[in-house]
Amino acid sequence: MHEPLTAAEYKAIAAGLQLPTNAFIDGAFRPANSGKTFTSTNPATGEVLAEIAACDSSDVDFAVEKARQAFDDGRWRHLSPGERKEVLLKLAKLMEQNRHELAVLESLDSGKPVRECQTVDVPDTIHTIRWHAELIDKIYDNTNNVGANALAMVVREPIGVVGCVLPWNFPLLMLAWKIGPALAAGCSVIVKPAQETTLTTLRVAELAHEAGIPAGVFNVVTGSGREVGEPIGLHMDVDMVAFTGSTPTGRRFLRYAADSNLKKVVLECGGKNPAVVLADAEDLDLVAEQVVNGAFWNMGENCSATSRLIVHASIKDELLQRIGAYMREWKTGDPLNPENRIGALVSKTHFEKVKSFLDDVKTEKLSLAHGGETYEGVFIEPTVVDGVTPKSRLFQEEIFGPILSVTTFENLAEATALANDTNYGLTASIYTGSLRNAIRLSRDIRAGLVTVNCFGEGDASTPFGGYKESGFGGRDKSVFAHDNYCELKTIWIDISERSVDETIR
Ligand code: NAP
Ligand code: MG
Repeated sequence: MHEPLTAAEYKAIAAGLQLPTNAFIDGAFRPANSGKTFTSTNPATGEVLAEIAACDSSDVDFAVEKARQAFDDGRWRHLSPGERKEVLLKLAKLMEQNRHELAVLESLDSGKPVRECQTVDVPDTIHTIRWHAELIDKIYDNTNNVGANALAMVVREPIGVVGCVLPWNFPLLMLAWKIGPALAAGCSVIVKPAQETTLTTLRVAELAHEAGIPAGVFNVVTGSGREVGEPIGLHMDVDMVAFTGSTPTGRRFLRYAADSNLKKVVLECGGKNPAVVLADAEDLDLVAEQVVNGAFWNMGENCSATSRLIVHASIKDELLQRIGAYMREWKTGDPLNPENRIGALVSKTHFEKVKSFLDDVKTEKLSLAHGGETYEGVFIEPTVVDGVTPKSRLFQEEIFGPILSVTTFENLAEATALANDTNYGLTASIYTGSLRNAIRLSRDIRAGLVTVNCFGEGDASTPFGGYKESGFGGRDKSVFAHDNYCELKTIWIDISERSVDETIR
């Protein structure tokens, strides 16, 4: 069902698209109160796609008011879990029916290869919504063993109005990671997509309305971080913010919470993820294939991207040679051509940032093992840089582009120390034929997700998020994500002798 179409078919879909341009608040599309707009472009061509509502704090206030009304009158949270499930399953179905359109919209807006949008982003997004829908009527609350004189219940209640502030690298999937559990729990949401990538979020809001999500429950306020993100963070009537993006912006949300109503904050931030390849790795072709996928999938614009290859010195040359062979399969070019696996970077600004790391290769006199070219527009060839030391910016900073650094080690202790030599702790992968080494390293690397002999992010049932400066306050995906969007309430009922009403005795 999610097989790619041909380039001509994708271009025909692109030509026929009606692009959403307004914010979506209280069940309807609305321009910004100020009437201002910002320009959404296709990074692969530089073409203008649409003028989108540039909202500000007054639009945020209006959306929060509507979201609060919807929450308070119970039009969504008071439905039975089974009823909410049915509506969310209908949303998943509508997304499936519109899957080609969603894939093309995502590709046009972000520069991502349409092939990936069609085969990964869209199906994973739909699966995430389904998974959380299916979970809601299978969660049990607790009654506690507190003795004969009382009944104690611990129940989950939806947390209230949730602000979801999203990045541009996986617009659909990050949306689903937040709204899947938030809507399932019964919350009202106000989504702020990244300015670069607003189109699919607006389309999903429209489909959610069609599926039966009541007005005011799913709002999208478009605009910049300063004009929309900050007012959400500082709002006195927003109960929680779920954020994915960079660590510096994540820090701001903690400050916003401290300076306003102590709203709950869950952050998924950056990563500087190692792939550690031990000398006893069994199949270097498999390692090469997985490392290339980890480093260059989504142009490396991925918080869980493999960014540092930490390899035993004795096998480095052979592994780099095999990596080169797999890299030849990753063609760069027009994102709407499903033959290409590397599309455009998201913007000129981001392209310049990634390119500055290529400049470091020259100034630090590092050696280019593969790649290193930039192309017209905002395309960067997948690149592997050898001889990188922990002091280098390439080793320490998140690049968020298709550049892999290579560092060697001699023993397991050194490998562990190198892997942990970062302020981030999101993901890591380990390649070894030894069960003992795999378990030792999995435990010793401080990261929220460790994969062994593969690159990946688990599935919908496994939590995702980071240690150290990669995250805060909770995890996306899985039953643990459901708990992010709930408060725990203790209800203690005294049933002791003295509390029994004399009149009914
Ligand atoms: P970003 O600059 O932190 O932006 C993320 C979101 O925050 C955007 O919607 C942005 O709005 C908004 N924002 C920016 N400045 C703000 C401010 N002062 N106050 C409130 N909101 C503000 O990150 P990005 O450039 O979009 O995404 C790339 C980063 O996200 C990378 O560092 C990557 O590692 C991280 N990321 C992490 C994960 C994860 O799960 N851990 C997943 C994906 C990405 P505008 O951009 O529209 O102004
Ligand atoms: Mg765009």
